[in-house]
Amino acid sequence: MAQKITGYTELIGLLAYPIRHSSSPAMQNEALSKLGLDYAYLAFEVDNDSLEDAIKGLRALKLKGANVSMPNKTVVHKYLDNLSPAAKLCGAVNTIVNDDGVLTGHITDGIGYMESLRDNQINIKGKKITVVGAGGAATAIQIQAALDGVKEISIFNIKDKFWDNAEETVRKINQNTDCTANLYDLADLSKLKAEIEDSYLFANATGMGMKPLEGQTYIPDKSFFRPDLIVTDVVYYPRETALLKMAKETGCKTMNGLGMMLFQGSAAFELWMGQPMPIEHMKKVLEI
Ligand code: NAD
Repeated sequence: MAQKITGYTELIGLLAYPIRHSSSPAMQNEALSKLGLDYAYLAFEVDNDSLEDAIKGLRALKLKGANVSMPNKTVVHKYLDNLSPAAKLCGAVNTIVNDDGVLTGHITDGIGYMESLRDNQINIKGKKITVVGAGGAATAIQIQAALDGVKEISIFNIKDKFWDNAEETVRKINQNTDCTANLYDLADLSKLKAEIEDSYLFANATGMGMKPLEGQTYIPDKSFFRPDLIVTDVVYYPRETALLKMAKETGCKTMNGLGMMLFQGSAAFELWMGQPMPIEHMKKVLEI
């Protein structure tokens, strides 16, 4: 937040419902304050019913931009003027930038994941990866990885309501990028094992390992991993899921979802401010 709110202070919003629990206002205001930028970031309880009015308000009040979370991520594009290539492919927006009245929607979750890998000296360009998940986080990661030059993605998911979305993601990646994507049923454990064996990195992009599934993993045993495999999780509470614990015990390099959370926020911050968050300071604040 600005050190002192004045008549010049500008506003950035967060439009979602429920939203009071979010860590984004504290994170964004800390970064604004650290850099002495005259902006404030506030959360607004906005659902699908009030979203159109909220976007009109954003235009009328000339907000610098906004973050968007559930249930608005897959709906807000209707009220915007432009979409980034990743937002178009994902069918989701988590960041709006207001350029003199022209609203552009971006999705920074996938960028955040890729940046957190880079921050850990992990480069997946030209490599094969296996990702479990077909929801919002998984789609953003898979699309961004494909756009950033990953060679092949094996996607696994359970046959639930997200299965159609996984099929759609595979189709979009294969049609629009140089990456090859394939979809498999997570119930096929021998296929999962074979695909992980052939991969440079394995990623969990589901809520498995987090409440109410804390302490659980769909990986049956350590024979699915090898010491030179990289294993990542989007979950950051708890910091070490059952999956990451098993991977660490096998000798794998591991990464939880905290970095993705920081870097998706930093990517949004950079879209508004033209400069990234003070990353080292933010890591200390977030205890990364
Ligand atoms: P979502 O509801 O859109 O997707 C849920 C996914 O979990 C689907 O693929 C679904 O099939 C799968 N799933 C549900 N139950 C399962 C089970 N029993 N076994 C295997 N798979 C199961 O959710 P989302 O928004 O994609 O979030 C997923 C996770 O990612 C959450 O834990 C969320 O906190 C985390 N997340 C982290 C970040 C970050 O910055 N680190 C960002 C977004 C989401």
